[in-house]
Amino acid sequence: MQIVDDIKPCYPLFGEDDYKATLDRKREQFEECHSEEKIAETFQWTTSQEYQELNFKREALTINPGKACQPLGAVLCALGFEKTLPYVHGSQGCVAYFRTYFNRHFKEPVACVSDSMTEDAAVFGGQKNMYSGLENARALYKPEMMAVSTTCMAEVIGDDLNAFIGNAKKEGHLPQEFPTPFAHTPSFVGSHVTGWDNMFEGIIRYFTLNEMTGKQPGSNGKINIVPGFETYLGNFRVIKRMLTEMGVKYSLLSDPEEVLDTPADGTYRMYAGGTPQAEVKDAPNSTTTFCCNRCNWLKLKNMLKRLGNMTFPNSIFPWVWNGLING
Ligand code: SF4
Repeated sequence: MQIVDDIKPCYPLFGEDDYKATLDRKREQFEECHSEEKIAETFQWTTSQEYQELNFKREALTINPGKACQPLGAVLCALGFEKTLPYVHGSQGCVAYFRTYFNRHFKEPVACVSDSMTEDAAVFGGQKNMYSGLENARALYKPEMMAVSTTCMAEVIGDDLNAFIGNAKKEGHLPQEFPTPFAHTPSFVGSHVTGWDNMFEGIIRYFTLNEMTGKQPGSNGKINIVPGFETYLGNFRVIKRMLTEMGVKYSLLSDPEEVLDTPADGTYRMYAGGTPQAEVKDAPNSTTTFCCNRCNWLKLKNMLKRLGNMTFPNSIFPWVWNGLING
């Protein structure tokens, strides 16, 4: 905390105990990083003969690896739910980039909106943008859910999605009951994979956290499949076909297969397929949950821990895509 007679610049300020505690808490709760011991162990290994040999044996090097930012993953996750409009709180250019990226990969139009924060919002906060953005997007595109994520800009100034969305509903810009799961997706932490995980946790939390009454693990006889950040739509089809042929009842939680592969018959479909909200609400009644991508369950795992005994039953982590395809 600053004292008016002794204002400190950042370096000595950040060395103080309360700042250290805040940074430690942030690391522990949000950054999912490895322990100090693991980091020290890995550092020691990088000074070993074994590492040197491995290092010099390399024949190829990846420059500019395929790593995108968190909201891109959040948008893909949101596209997998029925009649859901991904809504990004932040700058328009970022959303143009996400859409272009997906357009090129999937060869499909990709519905996603932003509330176009500009310089004034960067100074005064983006709540006003969110008020009109949520209202306009709902009126224009008629989604049944808007899944809200953030760009760097909103995160740097510290916009609070929970408060902003709550205020937007209080002020009448959205009906109270309109589903608006959200996830903070700062791009300076993790990658698109982290963003997928964050958005998924946000959606599951929204539909289950306060609606666990009467839920009975195993009662619907299904398994939950959590695909993670997966951009090859054929994998979704194979998974579904194999499970159907084996007679396994399942819920694929986030299924963008149809919306990202609509027929080229001259009719634009903004929403197609996707996991219905009812299936998300029913997910805690399943027998088990399979996470197909081990990088996509960190947040979800924490949420399950927080829910205590009201969890998805017997969750099994991780279960890798290739395990099913190849094994
Ligand atoms: S890294 Fe930040 S500024 Fe760049 S596209 Fe992603 S959210 Fe936008």
